[in-house]
Amino acid sequence: CPDLRGKSVAVTGGARGLGLAMVEAFARNGCHVLLVDVDAAELERVQEHLSAECPQQTVSVAAVSVAEAEAVADALADFAERTGSLDVLVNNAGISANVPSLDLDVDRWRRVIDVNLTGVFVCAQAAGRIMRTQGAGVVLNISSMYGVVSAAERASYCASKAAVASLTKVLAVEWAAHGIRVNAIGPGYVETDLLSSLAEQGRLDLDVLRRRTPSGRLGSTGDIAQLALFLSSAASANITGQVVVSDGGWTA
Ligand code: NAD
Repeated sequence: CPDLRGKSVAVTGGARGLGLAMVEAFARNGCHVLLVDVDAAELERVQEHLSAECPQQTVSVAAVSVAEAEAVADALADFAERTGSLDVLVNNAGISANVPSLDLDVDRWRRVIDVNLTGVFVCAQAAGRIMRTQGAGVVLNISSMYGVVSAAERASYCASKAAVASLTKVLAVEWAAHGIRVNAIGPGYVETDLLSSLAEQGRLDLDVLRRRTPSGRLGSTGDIAQLALFLSSAASANITGQVVVSDGGWTA
């Protein structure tokens, strides 16, 4: 993506998994990157290896929660000031609670909504305020195929991801006049360390998931990273307010 060279991209939950894959893809395409994550140790490790790999670019980290509105706004503003702009925000940080709804206590429900939905709003708002002054920008929200279809025992997760899809459309309509595009990606099951560890613990059977998927395979972090590059680049200049599901046909 030649037109991404020199752009400033912030990714929440960027320290591992899908977030890290997207951070690496943006950095390898010549972007300055800011990783916002609660895992300070991983942030430090990633900053060290990416700074060595991409010495021409700024690799910044902020050890804050996406739910902390002021801290997030400060981190984004500081990054924009140091690199000259904030071109892309990827709202990727997310958590889950896999509990039958009859047993899900309301504090646990609130924690998921706080990170997955309020966190997305808070970060998008802070980025939107900066992007409005630039007259341009891209916000990319990581929803899930479980924002489109249901999954038993994941009430707070599915509800939060469906709400993110709705929020994406509202912000797209509101901010189009400011030159800001807002889209979402809805990944299906992606082979991350998290999925592998659930499989090792016997809590997920990856072969069952593969057989359930029309394409016969799970998603890769590269599938999602490439889609994020496309939706952030000029190649998708007329696309806004969409949820692009990448699930090998699971929800078709
Ligand atoms: P992961 O658990 O491997 O990584 C999530 C990252 O977010 C971690 O680095 C974690 O420290 C960070 N994080 C958690 N709470 C945070 C907070 N309050 N503030 C800032 N950072 C925080 O998850 P993943 O599998 O890479 O998933 C990333 C996103 O993709 C999530 O939104 C998830 O719901 C979505 N998703 C993942 C899959 C999949 O199969 N892996 C499928 C669909 C959607």
